[in-house]
Amino acid sequence: MDLASYPRPATDTGIGFHWFPDTQHEDRAWLKRFGPVLKTLGASWLTLPSGVSNPVPEHFIAGLRDRAIEPVVHLWTPFVAPVAEADLARTARHLADAGVRYVFIYDRPNQMGQWTKWPGDSAPEAFMDLALPALEALAREEPLIPLLSPLQPGGDYHDLRFLDRCLEILAAKASANLKDKLGIAIHNFTSNKPLTWGHGASQAWPATRPGVCPEGSEDHTGYCLHEWYQEIALRRLGRAALMVAAANGPILGDRAHTAHPPVDAARHAAYAAEMARSIMAGESPYYLANTAFWLLAAEDGDPFAANRWYKPDGTPVLRETIQALADLPKRARTVPSVPATVSVLLEDGSTVTMELEDYVKGCVPRELPASSPMEALKAQAIAARTFAARAVRQPRHGATAVCTTSHCQNWSPKHSARSDKAVDETRGVVLTFGDELIGAYYFAHCDGHTRNSEEVWRAALPYCRSVPCICGNVKMYGHGVGMCQEGAIRMAQQGALAHEILTHYYRGVRVQRADGTPFTE
Ligand SMILES: [Zn+2]
Ligand SMILES: [Zn+2]
Repeated sequence: MDLASYPRPATDTGIGFHWFPDTQHEDRAWLKRFGPVLKTLGASWLTLPSGVSNPVPEHFIAGLRDRAIEPVVHLWTPFVAPVAEADLARTARHLADAGVRYVFIYDRPNQMGQWTKWPGDSAPEAFMDLALPALEALAREEPLIPLLSPLQPGGDYHDLRFLDRCLEILAAKASANLKDKLGIAIHNFTSNKPLTWGHGASQAWPATRPGVCPEGSEDHTGYCLHEWYQEIALRRLGRAALMVAAANGPILGDRAHTAHPPVDAARHAAYAAEMARSIMAGESPYYLANTAFWLLAAEDGDPFAANRWYKPDGTPVLRETIQALADLPKRARTVPSVPATVSVLLEDGSTVTMELEDYVKGCVPRELPASSPMEALKAQAIAARTFAARAVRQPRHGATAVCTTSHCQNWSPKHSARSDKAVDETRGVVLTFGDELIGAYYFAHCDGHTRNSEEVWRAALPYCRSVPCICGNVKMYGHGVGMCQEGAIRMAQQGALAHEILTHYYRGVRVQRADGTPFTE
């Protein structure tokens, strides 16, 4: 499944919580008490535990759905141990009928304490022997999206290695249906580090190895855990995986990293508000579905009572955090808007700011002959617009977005009527992956197939995969990443539409208009 196809709740803020840490609070009375609380905090996701043989009641799920809250069901077992196949199948059916979509079973299988007998070095294999049939049983219920169990960051068996091996096994043994649907549940707690800790994953922190984080380096144990897991998913599944938080956020008193102050009440509030803001604003990637703040509420004697935001009677505990989240302006997550203007570094060293559409009109005829088929010109216009729009957010020349040479995109003030038509007919259309504008790279011609981005540069871009190309040249001309211009012309000659050309060369992207609707011409 591509990321845009995963179901999301109506007016999805991306904000979510973990419900009570037990199954004793899943009836109408509790929902009546905490439903309004969840709404005030802007929640549209809720992780909740459920028995395997006695699942969460249908009316509780219905109550969540009525409040536009997406349940994420954790089928809870005391240990990582086999479950009765018939129970699981029956529960899967029950959950699907009740309207549940996201489900995971087992928790932190890379921790010794989760097993009655720790399998040691063969933990991933032993785990997948149990998990794979369970995931298949869940996947067989059409509406259900099974999630791989969340791991302990770091953990007794290092989570990055554990995940890598599990996905390797899954890629080899799972049904096509499961491979297509699977998402990954995660525990991306912030610890007491900045939210950006580990951002960029192994590309940005090459000195970090599983279990080794040298001085001055950063690792995966923080909010950006999802980026490190996504690298593995891309490698093993060949696609980006939806990451669904099972539990995350700050923990009061956390002092895991000595270089940063412990999490006091004020820092707890700041972390939670920043996570919520980042996910609503589209700064957290769209493949990260939610926050799952640990923990909405718990009984007095519960082992996790120290983490609760509320007492069971609804009395606020973490008042500062609750206030910060309640005060935060709420908005649904959206696809990014396209900027109206772009700053351009001219060859004489001066900078001018121009209308984005005018800039694109100066690019297209410099990048493709204006006599090219119209659909190829349109594809080129969309790629050039996307490249420039992304450069507005991440300028390529100091504060200036783009230059006028092939370093960025060739540009001159000269227009042509045909290429202007291609630009006008695609006005505002861009390429996105998740809700991010893609790096819309292109080049002159290839040798029969394009290149994976990481073969040419460092970054493994999920949408810049090696694909076959009909251009049939014997030699590569250009970097080979993204759209082959010669191939685009040939495809258009054979009747391909602009969006078909683009989705051939940029894998898994959406071709969308300024209002977010798909462009299918
Ligand atoms: Zn440049
Ligand atoms: Zn080609």
